[in-house]
Amino acid sequence: MSPPITQFEELALSPPLLQTLKEVGYEAPSPIQAACIPPLLAGHDLIGQAQTGTGKTAAFALPLLERLDLTDRQPQVLVLTPTRELAIQVAEAFQSYARHLPDFHVLPIYGGQSMSLQLRHLRRGVHVVVGTPGRIMDHLRRETLTLDGLRSVVLDEADEMLRMGFIEDVDWILEKTPAEKQVALFSATMPEPIRRVAHRHLREPREVKIQTRTATVATVRQRYCQVGVQHKLEALTRVLEVEETDAVLIFVRTKIAATELAERLEARGYPSAALHGDMTQALREKTIEQLRGGGLDIMVATDVAARGLDVQRISHVVNYDIPSDTEAYIHRIGRTGRAGRAGEAILFVAPREMRMLRVIEKATRQPITPMQPPSQAAIAGHRLNRFKQKILDTLAAQELSFFQDVVGQLEREQDIGARDIAAALAYLMQRDRPLQLPEGAEAKPPRPQAADETRDRAEPADRPTRRRERLGESADSTAKPTRPRAVDGTRDRAEPADRSTRQRERPKESTEFEVMRYRLEVGHQHGATPQNIVGAIANEAGIESRYIGRIEIHDDHSTVDLPTGMPEEIFQHLKKVRVRQHPLNISRLGRPGPSGPDRAGRRSVLDKAEAGVKPSRSAKTNPVDREAKTASRRQREIKS
Ligand code: AMP
Repeated sequence: MSPPITQFEELALSPPLLQTLKEVGYEAPSPIQAACIPPLLAGHDLIGQAQTGTGKTAAFALPLLERLDLTDRQPQVLVLTPTRELAIQVAEAFQSYARHLPDFHVLPIYGGQSMSLQLRHLRRGVHVVVGTPGRIMDHLRRETLTLDGLRSVVLDEADEMLRMGFIEDVDWILEKTPAEKQVALFSATMPEPIRRVAHRHLREPREVKIQTRTATVATVRQRYCQVGVQHKLEALTRVLEVEETDAVLIFVRTKIAATELAERLEARGYPSAALHGDMTQALREKTIEQLRGGGLDIMVATDVAARGLDVQRISHVVNYDIPSDTEAYIHRIGRTGRAGRAGEAILFVAPREMRMLRVIEKATRQPITPMQPPSQAAIAGHRLNRFKQKILDTLAAQELSFFQDVVGQLEREQDIGARDIAAALAYLMQRDRPLQLPEGAEAKPPRPQAADETRDRAEPADRPTRRRERLGESADSTAKPTRPRAVDGTRDRAEPADRSTRQRERPKESTEFEVMRYRLEVGHQHGATPQNIVGAIANEAGIESRYIGRIEIHDDHSTVDLPTGMPEEIFQHLKKVRVRQHPLNISRLGRPGPSGPDRAGRRSVLDKAEAGVKPSRSAKTNPVDREAKTASRRQREIKS
């Protein structure tokens, strides 16, 4: 038996796809990928037993992309999915993995979307069609979709298609495909009707079933929190606020996600560090030592980087991204509850991933109990208790006679009572973390409106669900413009993973924009770093990190280049945002000189452009865009 595949390089994928995998930050193939990619590359039929969350989309998308003839613009791959949601997600995954394949086109086809739009795309030619059975049948009947050039068919979530009554449609569609083709069938379970479909349409299929090892993790209490992707960060900060934690280890799927989540937590006042495979061994060890010694309380890690990690003070493991297999889950939660201590494991799971949760539950042979993200009331109560405790601790431990004199003076001079003075001091003390939280408000400072338009950057390598609506329109130059994002920025430039994110996210079609230099009143002496400046700006102003230009950190202040056209409300908000507890107090310095190292580079600020859509005319009327003609080359290094 050949040794298990542990690296993407061991799979016979071509450089453009390997490059993509580097950019999206996948560290290693998931078990289903390691098992499915070789037979699919070799052209075999395949039955894969896997659910959402295992990485099955890449398991078929990567080898099928590899086998495409890009010069032939007729559908070569057809993926059938039970829902439009999944069709869009799978199409996005293809688009994302094909980013270095020139002129690649994928089209999601589903009911409810304009037929004429789909027809336009089909006429123009596409390599991959991903659709729900009903709408695919419509097109086949109208002969607006021909499958003569089809080489591969994927039945994704076949048991769901069965459950939703589509299995006969699937049969019908398969009858319309050429006899010579490859078929891959993925299903979480294998009920008899699915076996029959497989028997009828698959030839000598390779069967892949990821064996799930069972294990008991007795000392760890396991809970899960059902939360959508866009709410995960908020849920995490609430958990961090309310749980009694010592050290917390948070798991994400990709290197990029690790860096980004650490930045975002940092910007929200939770000092954190990332741990991933692109860091040098020395830096990794240093970070782990910090965690062990108590100099660091929150670490955001990938599976590979945290392999074998043994730090006894880890009280909590948070599975921010669901792991791709049960073994990974068991390893993750085994990082807490070390040396016989009690440990807590919290798993964030999206509604679609609930099945994976059940599989994990079976594997650990222990229930994973539901939990709600802590409510505002719980957070407020917790803050109040901590606040009172802090006062009691200070009274017990500090020599306060000088301060008592100050209060006494104030009482006499102003004729006010000690209670009023104490109330004013209490008010001042709690401003960073307010004790009164109106129900429904987020447990963090309110964000200006433009922030809503940014993507959830904690999920960079995930299927970009936020691009859904755009993908179907991706070559439609008449599509309605989306509002350009405000402005954006680059993260921790010291880390190669980040560089690759920037490349990945770089829009295909660029619109230039001008930059403005700003001064921030935090510098070395306050402990400011490029990461926490970028994190704070990205998080609080809704400015994506790839649009944040040069950062220079001086002793008592820093400068940063941002695209011009920052709305006044964001500017005002940024004044109050804090890095290392010091307000940025941002002010405008003017435009950096047109030559020399300060020149900013071309960057698109259009959502559409990122999805490969030509910026439409009306998009150019946006103030950020309007000025988008004269930017000069962007300087990437950070002097610090
Ligand atoms: P799926 O099971 O296809 O729904 O994939 C679940 C998630 O895992 C998606 O967000 C993928 O972007 C992510 N993913 C897929 N393969 C890998 C990998 N090898 N390493 C890390 N994340 C991955």
